[in-house]
Amino acid sequence: MQAPLIGGHPAVDFLNTSFTPEGEVIETIGDGRSLLNWFVGAGLLDEFAAAKLSKRFGAKAVDTTASEARKLREWAKEWLLRWRAKPNGDYTDELGYLNKLLARGTSRHEVIESERGLSLVERPNIDSPDALLTLIAMQLAALITETPPSLVKSCAGHKCSLWFVDRTKAHRRMFCSASACGNRAKVAAFRQRQKEE
Ligand SMILES: [Zn+2]
Repeated sequence: MQAPLIGGHPAVDFLNTSFTPEGEVIETIGDGRSLLNWFVGAGLLDEFAAAKLSKRFGAKAVDTTASEARKLREWAKEWLLRWRAKPNGDYTDELGYLNKLLARGTSRHEVIESERGLSLVERPNIDSPDALLTLIAMQLAALITETPPSLVKSCAGHKCSLWFVDRTKAHRRMFCSASACGNRAKVAAFRQRQKEE
């Protein structure tokens, strides 16, 4: 099963790579191949690059990276929950770990042509399987520096574990999706009202 890409940010989509749609945990990056597929789905790698990496590093090494990515995910979830609850807390240790992952990354610059003319872009070098973890760390770093903690939300749906960035104007979004969890909650409230009447 593919992870739902409803997070509104690649870092949040990464947190959602394990989720509980019906109360049971579904792991979507259980091995290296599924991790690379996730990178492609999330728009962080193109299909061609992902296939090349898998060949270059070998399945076993990428499997190990997937296992480290799962650990990184659980670490990030635990931290971001605290960060959300207490935005001004002391996160020296967490930032230290994040910065250590970021420090491993290297990048190159490239001039590309687009409709708007020439532009200078920075592209990460993926020269080892670990660089994939750095790619995730970069997204986590982008999330915590660009998004107010109060807008990084968990779905209010019963048993739903999905996270999302609330980009609505009023900041009152409660559910991962209005058609799934939002609808279920509406039906449950309706039944409750009927019972009471
Ligand atoms: Zn939900």
